[in-house]
Amino acid sequence: MPMALLKHRDMPYTRAMNEHDPIIIVGGGQAAMQAVDSLRRDGYSGGLMMIGEEVYAPYQRPPLSKQFLAGETDESRLAFRGEDFYREHGVEMHLGQRVSQLNTTTRRVVTDNGLDFGYSRLLLATGARVRRLNLPGADLPGVHYVRTLDDSKGLRAALGAATKIVVIGGGFIGLEVAAVARKLGKAVTVVETQDRLLARVVAPVVSEYYRDYHRAHGVDIRLSASVAGLRGSDRVTAVELGDGEVLAADIVVAGIGVLPNDELARDAGIACDNGILVDEYAVTSAPEVLAAGDCASHPNAIYGYRLRLESVQNAADQARTAAATMVGRSQPYVAVPWFWSDQYDLKLQMAGLSQRHDAFVVRGDPASRKFAVCYFKDDALIAMDTINRPADHMIARKVLADTAARKRLTPAQAADETFNLKSLLG
Ligand code: ADP
Repeated sequence: MPMALLKHRDMPYTRAMNEHDPIIIVGGGQAAMQAVDSLRRDGYSGGLMMIGEEVYAPYQRPPLSKQFLAGETDESRLAFRGEDFYREHGVEMHLGQRVSQLNTTTRRVVTDNGLDFGYSRLLLATGARVRRLNLPGADLPGVHYVRTLDDSKGLRAALGAATKIVVIGGGFIGLEVAAVARKLGKAVTVVETQDRLLARVVAPVVSEYYRDYHRAHGVDIRLSASVAGLRGSDRVTAVELGDGEVLAADIVVAGIGVLPNDELARDAGIACDNGILVDEYAVTSAPEVLAAGDCASHPNAIYGYRLRLESVQNAADQARTAAATMVGRSQPYVAVPWFWSDQYDLKLQMAGLSQRHDAFVVRGDPASRKFAVCYFKDDALIAMDTINRPADHMIARKVLADTAARKRLTPAQAADETFNLKSLLG
């Protein structure tokens, strides 16, 4: 079968491509699924293989700490695509297989169980893994993480019989788990090292709102608190804090961030720095090797600095970029980052990145449970967090994508609920 692959300006071929070698996608998450879809839509008709460590075909992760954990949705609804999709798209699936070696000179990958494949192009969509607790007692049964379907199934089963939950980490995962556990009537304590919740992503005003909301729902929130160790003999029974206090626990859930799975690339000599370094076309430092999703660090055109994003948006958009590059229709990756988190009846949606803001205004009344925080840097909008204001979120994404509109919005307009944000768009 002739391949529709074309040359990319950044990928000079060191030797003639073997037309019979497939494009291999390493990873079985959202970026992998999107790459399959986009490659075929973009007209690629050659061989395609997916090698994923998990036994499941790509599935949605966001519900694992939300509806799925709460028992409101079942496993069958998590899959992105039915079984037919991969067959119909001519994808040779190798699930439950881990790629352990990559040789970018011979263009081959080897799996743990000794399968050895040549590739014409390689897409690393290896994602991220949870950062694990490094404390006495961290390996005791009853200590849970939430990243994979198996993690969430295990926690969901354990939650049933538990009454006291201690959550370590007051980021998205920790707070979503706390909200679910409260809904299920459990006693919940959240232990966070920083002096506010969600500090990695939102401004203090949003952190305080979430702290108060969780407290109003009965969660014991401990800020500026450290964990000295976990106690228990055959399973965890308590969490010891740095100040000596001991919190009884039937289950401990840690949500303390993730680490990029970049070792395969690193060992192959591909440039990495908190993720696999890619350019705006999703191309790594090795010829014919691309990367997309949580494992990749890209130069962000909108913000002007390098980012490694852990999000649905980035997995999908960067995989589209990678697919376009592989078929020779290179389009630089220019996308406004967005994220969301569901806790209780609050839908937090974040458009853009607020990290480097120098000013912010609040739009709407937090007491109404519908408000937004608009972040500015050098007099231009850089991000907006909305709580139960989905229409503002959608407009914010458009405004952030439009350089002139970002600069046009003044803080006074942003703070004025009657100001129509749509009027900023050309
Ligand atoms: P996740 O995706 O796991 O929620 P985040 O980075 O959003 O990751 O949040 C992780 C949170 O965990 C951060 O607020 C961080 O300060 C906190 N954290 C990290 N290590 C510890 C620890 N050992 N004890 C308590 N909190 C921690």
